[in-house]
Amino acid sequence: MTTRPIPYYWSSIDWPRFVEDYPPPPAFSDAMSALSDDGLRELQERRFLARVQEAWEIPFYRDRWSAAGLEPGDIRGLPDIERIPTFTSEDLKASIADEPPFGSHQNFALKAMATPLKIQSSGGTSGLPRPTLFDPVAWEVQAIQFARAFHAQGAEVGDVLQITLTNSLANTAWCSSTAAMNWCGLVPLTTGSGVVTSSTRQLELAREWGTAGWVAFGEYMKILAETAIREGIDLAADLRTRFIHTYLGVDEEGHLRKLLSEAWGAEVYDNYGTHEVGLVGFECAAHDALHVNDDTALLEVADRETGEILDVGEPGNLVVTSLHRSVPPIIRYDLKDLMRTSRRGVCGCGLRTTKLSGFLGRSDEMVKLRATSVYPRSAQDVVAGDPRTTGEFLCVVETVGEGLASRERMRVQIEGRDRAGAHDLEADMRGLLHTAFGVAVDVEIVPAASLAPLTGLGGEGKVKRLLDLR
Ligand SMILES: [Zn+2]
Repeated sequence: MTTRPIPYYWSSIDWPRFVEDYPPPPAFSDAMSALSDDGLRELQERRFLARVQEAWEIPFYRDRWSAAGLEPGDIRGLPDIERIPTFTSEDLKASIADEPPFGSHQNFALKAMATPLKIQSSGGTSGLPRPTLFDPVAWEVQAIQFARAFHAQGAEVGDVLQITLTNSLANTAWCSSTAAMNWCGLVPLTTGSGVVTSSTRQLELAREWGTAGWVAFGEYMKILAETAIREGIDLAADLRTRFIHTYLGVDEEGHLRKLLSEAWGAEVYDNYGTHEVGLVGFECAAHDALHVNDDTALLEVADRETGEILDVGEPGNLVVTSLHRSVPPIIRYDLKDLMRTSRRGVCGCGLRTTKLSGFLGRSDEMVKLRATSVYPRSAQDVVAGDPRTTGEFLCVVETVGEGLASRERMRVQIEGRDRAGAHDLEADMRGLLHTAFGVAVDVEIVPAASLAPLTGLGGEGKVKRLLDLR
């Protein structure tokens, strides 16, 4: 028999205060407009200092910060932020290995059980996925982040929102369904991925139940569009899709966006987030970079080699400090995602926030080929831009030769739609990828649908684009 009091969800948050602190739509836009740049800075600083104070109580931060020569009280405001060392997912992994099951950054929450907790995790390509705990504030704020996105993306009260990610270890589906039901009056339809509900059934449900919006990875919306052609479903005439909330990946030239919006006859909105810090940025109807949830996330961009903080507008590793999370605090997390930020201003949609570029690649997927830095995901623009491909590709990196003669080689496997033109396609792709990467790579045209087992397309997580055989 437990003698510990049950930490009830309903009483774990002061709700009226909470919605004032983290306004859901439509109040968010007015709240941001009402804040001057100094006012926003003050709000961010207040939250930042509160998180820093909490972090000093947590071994992961106390140890790292002490080792860097910091003492409690040294960080007095945002100008001091660069004195705090950044950390990466490798540090979180080490923390978990040293202090299982959840690491020295978050075991405290499980010990205390002062609030309800939930476990979510990263994809995890090898070994166990990386767990993150959520208390009710972390859980509801990330739902509000999504609700703001849906609202800016044209969602209306009563719309059916079809969520084609499974409510499982990863949290995008959970954020979406919680946002829809709790914070923006949408009706979530949690079909899950194609593994849970077949693509044909997904389309039938959308047609019969009137889906207005979709939450899906871009690659899966492509699969659904191809399924529709096979099943004789006319996406534009038979379905009532108005908006697609998606994650386009590296799509600077907009090929994938164009493909999807033409196939579906609907607006396509890019977004960016991670499971630890939630939805950092979302696109609005102006389609002019991503709005940042400035009251929940403070962004810095670091040089990917030196770690030095860069000026606004320069691309580098995104370093995020969560302003709302206490379980666990996330302070200066170097996500190794390449992005660019821009200054706060009023957008065409009326919302006043800082902005974030689309996703530009992953630093830790960088491959050095003959002294050139190559980012596998940047092949997406080239591959998706050619209708002779299915848009699917995988970069295979291996070491060939031995000793002094050994070198790294990258082979890009690309799915071709038909065998007949494979030779020409291969030559064209080789030329275009040489330009995109700045270095020559091998190209291999493979049959349509053959890469899915390696890329994880249609599964639960983000699609993989790099197979490292070194
Ligand atoms: Zn906007």
